[in-house]
Amino acid sequence: MVKIKQAEATLESLHRIFTVPEAPNSTLGEIEHAISQNLNRFLQDHIAATDCSLTEIEKDFNNPTIPDAPTFVSDHTAFLLEKLVAQSVHTSSPRFIGHMTSALPYFLMPLSKIMIALNQNTVKIETSKAFTPLERQVLGMLHNLIYQRNEDFYQSWMHSAAHSLGAFCSGGTIANITALWVARNSALKAEGDFNGVAEEGLFRAMRHYGYEDLVILVSERGHYSLKKSADVLGIGRESLVAIPTDENNRICLEKLSEKIVELKAKNIKPFALVGLAGTTETGNIDPLDHMADIAEREGMHFHVDAAWGGASLMSNNQRPKLKGIERADSVTIDAHKQLYVPMGAGMVLFKDPALVSAIEHHADYILRKGSKDLGSHTLEGSRSGMAMLLFASFNIIGRQGYELLIDQSIEKAAYFADLVEAQNDFELVSAPELCLMTYRYVPPTVKAALNVASPEHVDAIHTLLNDLTIFIQKRQREAGHSFVSRTCLTPSQWDRRTTNVFRVVLANPLTTREILQAVLDEQREIASTSSIALPKLLSLADTLLR
Ligand SMILES: *Cc1c(COP(=O)(O)O)cnc(C)c1O
Repeated sequence: MVKIKQAEATLESLHRIFTVPEAPNSTLGEIEHAISQNLNRFLQDHIAATDCSLTEIEKDFNNPTIPDAPTFVSDHTAFLLEKLVAQSVHTSSPRFIGHMTSALPYFLMPLSKIMIALNQNTVKIETSKAFTPLERQVLGMLHNLIYQRNEDFYQSWMHSAAHSLGAFCSGGTIANITALWVARNSALKAEGDFNGVAEEGLFRAMRHYGYEDLVILVSERGHYSLKKSADVLGIGRESLVAIPTDENNRICLEKLSEKIVELKAKNIKPFALVGLAGTTETGNIDPLDHMADIAEREGMHFHVDAAWGGASLMSNNQRPKLKGIERADSVTIDAHKQLYVPMGAGMVLFKDPALVSAIEHHADYILRKGSKDLGSHTLEGSRSGMAMLLFASFNIIGRQGYELLIDQSIEKAAYFADLVEAQNDFELVSAPELCLMTYRYVPPTVKAALNVASPEHVDAIHTLLNDLTIFIQKRQREAGHSFVSRTCLTPSQWDRRTTNVFRVVLANPLTTREILQAVLDEQREIASTSSIALPKLLSLADTLLR
């Protein structure tokens, strides 16, 4: 345990923390040096593979008192290294293949220091003179990636005060809320005596328009942030209507059309249709082109949630998979997923740069009418200059670099899917369309038993397999050698039975085929130590095969 020395609170020492950097031989100086020498080595050396439980870690963060007396920087840094860094999750490890959060290029470390040092607030020009045009340019680049409009279009709108090609925000959740906020306000806009939902609120808007209800349509694989959106926009979570998916986890167009007819007959207004370009759980892409047709026909706002999958547009080889995205009224993309920048970087892009007038806000001391303040078109207020890191990555990695990163992730996922299918004791549950896939462990005799079992016995086997999957995933996480996540699906090949699966996201370019093989070996090994689910499964299979 680090012994913390008490420092003195004097005005002079306080001035020093705003001016004098730490000496190179101080704890902080050594950390900076180590990170600049070899980022991965630093992380490897300092994140201990602890098997501390969360409850134990909570004991280190249990003191509700703000320290009265100051501490020396070095002492406190030593505490952070020991208690915070050491017990952190090694998300940048090539063996950490369970989530969309992954490794970052090293150049972002010194660049983010500059960003923080400049401390620009992009809510208004007065605190971000150069960062505002930069952010508008970055939004223009993403807009161009999706919508591919001509040079004149971007020269006209990129820096126009009353327009926005999009909004930079903290992540996909805020991006989705912003898109649906625009959609709601456009659907309930001012007309006649009615001043619009933004001014008069939902009660009066519904009275004016005479709708029985408002709903948002999305497939059952929609991200939970859409429910949050429906909640905060006053529409209610129940009014996010989940449309069933087909055997590839894509929205079923027939069911979608049927639902629209049903809603219209009840005077319920579906004002927005959300397409998914890379579902969070299975990575599949909805038939966006067909959905655009339906949205157009029905006068719905068409939003595409491409928070995770949108980055695939960087690859000309993958772009055809997202065909139709260019017809969306709005698109969400998270740069902190497959564009490899740190968290706090989401974006929503608008096909029509005038669409944001639906959510425009003004104030007297900033965001004045006609100003180019970004804050007049964003949900968030004060925001960092995060766009700088994305801009740097675009320049340093380039589209060609991203294409390579995206393509190799997808190839690796295809390889892993083949590897899983080649094992007699694993089962692929959802094949990868991008670099995300799901599978589970099923012993060979259980596979054989499933082929001959009655529906009731298949149910019983599934329940036990679910327990086994959860057991393996937890043990693997606790052991700390590698990490895959888990989720719960209703695959059509298993007649929509609730099925727990391992979920793998292959984003780290340093993940090797050997690592993937080792992940399966470890899971098989852990399965053999199951003392409840596995014996029950094997004996049930035995009985059924007898
Ligand atoms: C990750 C994700 C989100 C939410 O993004 P956050 O950045 O976590 O707020 C929304 N939709 C999809 C499809 C996602 O994958």
